[in-house]
Amino acid sequence: MKITRIETFLAPPRWLFARVETDDGVVGWGEPVVEGRAEPVRAATEVLAEYLVGQDPLRIEDHWQVMTKGGFYRGGPVLSSAVAGLDQALWDIKGKVYGQPVYQLLGGPVRDSIRAYAWVGGDQPTEIREAVAAQVEAGFTAVKMNGSGRMAPLATRADVRECLLRAEAAREVLGDTRDFALDFHGRVSPANARRILPLLADYAPLFVEEPVLSDHLHCLPDLVTASNIPLALGERLFSRREFLAPLQAGIAVVQPDISHAGGISELRRIAALAEVYGAQIAPHCPLGPVALAASLQVAFTTPNFLIQEQSIGIHYNKEADLLDYVADAEPFRFVAGSLVRTERPGLGVEVDEAAIRAAASRGHTWRNPVWRHDDGSFAEW
Ligand SMILES: [Mg+2]
Repeated sequence: MKITRIETFLAPPRWLFARVETDDGVVGWGEPVVEGRAEPVRAATEVLAEYLVGQDPLRIEDHWQVMTKGGFYRGGPVLSSAVAGLDQALWDIKGKVYGQPVYQLLGGPVRDSIRAYAWVGGDQPTEIREAVAAQVEAGFTAVKMNGSGRMAPLATRADVRECLLRAEAAREVLGDTRDFALDFHGRVSPANARRILPLLADYAPLFVEEPVLSDHLHCLPDLVTASNIPLALGERLFSRREFLAPLQAGIAVVQPDISHAGGISELRRIAALAEVYGAQIAPHCPLGPVALAASLQVAFTTPNFLIQEQSIGIHYNKEADLLDYVADAEPFRFVAGSLVRTERPGLGVEVDEAAIRAAASRGHTWRNPVWRHDDGSFAEW
């Protein structure tokens, strides 16, 4: 069995799909992408495809080693995301060849359903109350929302109070049996995080995400001890080695993205590393159906899995939605806020290839916004 062709498709809202074809007709799909940098990842994917075409698709680990380490210079979001998407497609092919879901090939299921959270937009407490209530009505048991908007390096009392009011609004609607998580998105300086985290503790968020940027990892030990709130990060880390320092610092939740951090193969290893530190995984996934399906495969077979991010119907995907690219939405149907395990082979998702090809004819040029502070200087988004 040989890989015969690899194609990539730039598709709205901000995604990139890879289609890996074999000489016996089995096709695998992956999503090699970094949001806002899709074109460089596409170029890296095409360079890696030069090596893969002609190879046996079932030798996933060997290909992972060569793709990750074979170019002398290694690492970083672009290369790791290209490897990630191709790794997903190879696992999809392997599962289809053996007629088994990927989670079976990884050791079998340890759970039957995957708890997911829904995203809540809105800035004002009234908007947050309404948005949280809508997700509770839809059956979700957990939501996530931004912890703050743009924030000066040393926040005003009003900024701090706004954070607390958001948390209070969510907790009031959710009661004590449902959860909310807060994403600080790296917008908050270490000094602000140290001030705000203890004040949020009474609202008992499930976790606070990216309390500082991933390049402020040396500040994490102080933040871990600043409050009793579990801290989470990892969407901007790309290998198991990069997760070691935050785990040693005491974070409770790691959030690798299956399309950024080396795919299914590396996500498994990141989860195993986290297990050593008693930490849980909550995979980042604001991406399309292949990335979500791949994340679920890992979640079904990973003991220290906590909760899954997903972007179905999310407000910020204006031009296309995850379900626009699947031929059958059943694997993404929520039951009481969870996704239920199926026996479908490979990644368990049937993509709508015609829809992807049509979308790729439009393409996209998505870039994240550039924010400024009041004095005109750069602000973290
Ligand atoms: Mg985040």
